[in-house]
Amino acid sequence: MAGQRMQFPIGGKNKDELMAAMQKLKNADANYEKGRTWSLVYYAGEELTELVKQAYNMFFHENALNPTAFPSLRQFESEITAMAAHMLGGDEQVVGNMTSGGSESVMMTVKTARDWARKVRPEVTEPEMLLPITAHPAFMKAAHYFNVKPIHIPITEDYRADAVAARELVTSNTILIVGSAPAYPHGVVDPIVKLAALAQENHILCHVDACLGGFMLPFVRELGYPMPAFDFQVPGVTSISADIHKYGYAAKGASVILYRNRELRMHQLFAYPDWPGGAFISPSMSGTRPGGAIAAAWAVMNYLGKEGYVALAKSTMETTEALMKGIEAIPGLYILGKPNMSVFAFASQTHNVLVLADLMESYGWHMDRQHSPDCLHFMVTPAHEGIVDVFLGDLQKAVTLMETDSEVASQAGSAAMYGMVGTLPDRGMVRDFLLNMLDEFGTYKSSE
Ligand SMILES: *Cc1c(COP(=O)(O)O)cnc(C)c1O
Repeated sequence: MAGQRMQFPIGGKNKDELMAAMQKLKNADANYEKGRTWSLVYYAGEELTELVKQAYNMFFHENALNPTAFPSLRQFESEITAMAAHMLGGDEQVVGNMTSGGSESVMMTVKTARDWARKVRPEVTEPEMLLPITAHPAFMKAAHYFNVKPIHIPITEDYRADAVAARELVTSNTILIVGSAPAYPHGVVDPIVKLAALAQENHILCHVDACLGGFMLPFVRELGYPMPAFDFQVPGVTSISADIHKYGYAAKGASVILYRNRELRMHQLFAYPDWPGGAFISPSMSGTRPGGAIAAAWAVMNYLGKEGYVALAKSTMETTEALMKGIEAIPGLYILGKPNMSVFAFASQTHNVLVLADLMESYGWHMDRQHSPDCLHFMVTPAHEGIVDVFLGDLQKAVTLMETDSEVASQAGSAAMYGMVGTLPDRGMVRDFLLNMLDEFGTYKSSE
């Protein structure tokens, strides 16, 4: 019966039927393998996926909560963080941990900064952190969870954090300055050298969020593309987050958080000796930590090596350049800022890009909308290598349709909703709308 809530089955179901039912649902999902999506999945082909699955499955049940039971996982984790530190310009002093993803890495860095300040700057009672408006919402979540006040740094015309404005925002309560390498919305790297120098002058911490770019920027730089300094080579950078489950092509549930030295990382760690269940230690937010995700990350980093990542970065950058060139060749469309890697957004002064997105979705593309200004977002992966011409053809078709059919151009569709989320002045109302949407998701009604 439609709308009835799913009940827990009394008897178990048949395995083949279950698999078939799941496959049917999967078939209706976004098709990342054919490059029809521009976010969420970083797909580098079947061969690499098989390797990652094999490594994951080998450690499917292992738990990194207790490193003494599984020395294998402990070794993987320490080698992964050492390799990542080396890749990101760190010396022997740099240490870190694996986390379940970028959000957890970001949360750990904010928590670490807060606890570092409690010890080193006890006069600070209401800690603040500076973050560019383009910084990932995980920082707002961390602010919310850990009671650190977020202060937004505006961006300049090139969509990078305004380092001059940042200087004016530093107060005696500031404990942390954040920069992204790159920021998700426009794919541009913030002026890390200036932000880190500002942090150093004020004896505070500086985090570089390289969740997106950590496993891409070093290889794009290696290919000879111009690249601003963004890693541990920059004086004043005290921590870096990098997601292996993004451009590292690992299984989901894999990120690293790295600190300049052990003393800093100490503020991240947790120990509780008094529990009747035994002395409890945990490096991060998660208790149980999936061995599979750690093993898969270790396997893919060793399998590809630097050369493998550079080769993937090369084809991905070529695809990105072809896409950006094709988009800019369509009159009225333009790329925002100067993207540093394979992530970018385009906007238009002549066309409503939200309507354009609806049209592209009707052609079978999964599109990502952003606002301020309205624009469409692209995260390019090896899966997009063969689809550039098809995509650009569809984009041209949609633009032409909007130009020749005034009915289409004025059609609202989902564009009205996205427009509202982006521009409605009452942000509290938009927030309530989004919270209600999330609440609705949690009460999914079975269609059977
Ligand atoms: C993806 C991302 C994050 C958050 O990572 P999750 O793995 O989604 O939790 C943080 N910062 C940036 C720049 C990101 O792109």
